[in-house]
Parts: sequence; C-alpha cells; structure tokens
Amino acid sequence: MLSIFIFVLGACIGSFLNVCIYRIPHGESIVFSRSRCKCGAQIPWFLNIPLLSWLLLRGRAYCCGGSIPARYFIVEILTAILFVIVFAVSDSLSKSIIGSGFCSLLLVIAFIDMDTMEIYDIMSVGGMFAGFAISLFFPEWHDEQSGISSLIKSLGGACLGSGLIFWIAVIGEMTFKKEAIGGGDVKLLGTIGAFIGWKGCLFSIFGGCLISTLIFLPSLLIWKLVKIKTFTIPRIIPFAPILVVGSMTYVLCGQNLLEMLL
Ligand SMILES: [Zn+2]
Repeated sequence: MLSIFIFVLGACIGSFLNVCIYRIPHGESIVFSRSRCKCGAQIPWFLNIPLLSWLLLRGRAYCCGGSIPARYFIVEILTAILFVIVFAVSDSLSKSIIGSGFCSLLLVIAFIDMDTMEIYDIMSVGGMFAGFAISLFFPEWHDEQSGISSLIKSLGGACLGSGLIFWIAVIGEMTFKKEAIGGGDVKLLGTIGAFIGWKGCLFSIFGGCLISTLIFLPSLLIWKLVKIKTFTIPRIIPFAPILVVGSMTYVLCGQNLLEMLL
C-alpha cells in the first residue's frame, strides 16, 4: 500500500520536475502559471494527470493533436521508481525524504544539461547550500550525531568533489587543447559532495563513467543493429548525466557496493 502511495507521489513530483526542466532554461516561473500546450491552450487538470494522461492520449495533445514528447512520461516514471527505491533502502523517514529530494534535483540538472549543455547556478550552487543546511540540521543523513561533524563531512565533500573535477578539467584542457569539462560540472560536483561526501564524489565520477559506458555501449550496438537513421552519436557528451547516474547509484546502493568491493 505504502509503495503505491510513494509511487504516485513520485509521479506527481516527476510531473513538477518536467515543469522545472522546461521552464528554468526559458526563464519562466515554475510556480505561478498554469500548464500550457505548445499551441497556447491551457491544459485542464484532468488532462494533466501524471503518467495516465500521456498514456491515455497516446502522446498526442488533446487541444491540437501536437505530439507530447515521450520524455515527459519517462521523467515521471523515473521519478516514481526512484522514490520507491529510495524509500525502500533508507532506514529513516528523514533520510528517505532527503534522498528523494536530492535525486529530484539531480534529474532536473541532468535533463536540462542534455537539452542545453548548461547547468544553472540556481540548481548547482543553490543545491550545494541546501546540502550544507541539510547536513547541519539533519546529521543522521551523514550517519553523524552532531550537526557540526555532519557539516564538516558535507563541506569536505564539496571541496574535494569540485577540486578533483577542477584538476581533471585542467589536465583535460592541456591534453585536448580545448575545454573538456565545463565550469558547471565543477559546481555540480560541489553539490554532489555537499550531499554525499567525498566517497560519494569519487563514486559519482568513476562509477558514473563506468555505468554510463556499460549502458551506452550496448545501446549503441542495438541502435546499429536496428539501424535507427535519426540517431547520430553526439560529438559532445554532456557530463552532468554521467555524474548524476553515478550519484544516484551511490544514494541507492553505493554504500553496499563499496563494502562489497573494498
Ligand atoms: Zn495544443
């Protein structure tokens, strides 16, 4: 019963994340305006139900028949599934809520980066300060007793994360003679470190690269086999989704994975 409730809650939050992903790059308010179709028509609430509306309308807008990208559905179901897993693996309510919030933030950052190759400061720097505040007030998130030691873990994670990626960026630039990693990625790793500490940062970079390669290579093969012509390999790969895959894995099962490997 509880899992179903969390799944539905996740889908609703996912619907809100879709709004953020679309509106933040456009500089629009994410709160104070009703949902509109591309044709300009307002979307009534009963056609704005997470997951169900997209399925019932089969990806076509009711007002004008224009297509609704499958991505809206994907973000909603991804959020719902993430929420269910986070709640299942967390040992307290506060950890589940912080974990779900962190995953939601990461999802928005990853999808905006895929769209625009840009990571917005409001998400990365804002998220980093949110991470500090959460660490101070909810030390149990870092398995600490006092707020101060939890905050130190968070600050250490942010410094190490952004410092490490900064040096990878410097070396990358010297090797490839052009910008290999953007400043947005440096800030994003600060955010990741603020939430999941230095171990989480290392896991996000190396685990993220490994997992993304494991996902990317087989899908590339499938694409080749079924010969989807519209698909071209992107020349520049946004780095944020790779980091996001790594940090989400860390939140969901990273501790156990590390214990198994070390
Ligand atoms: Zn329309």
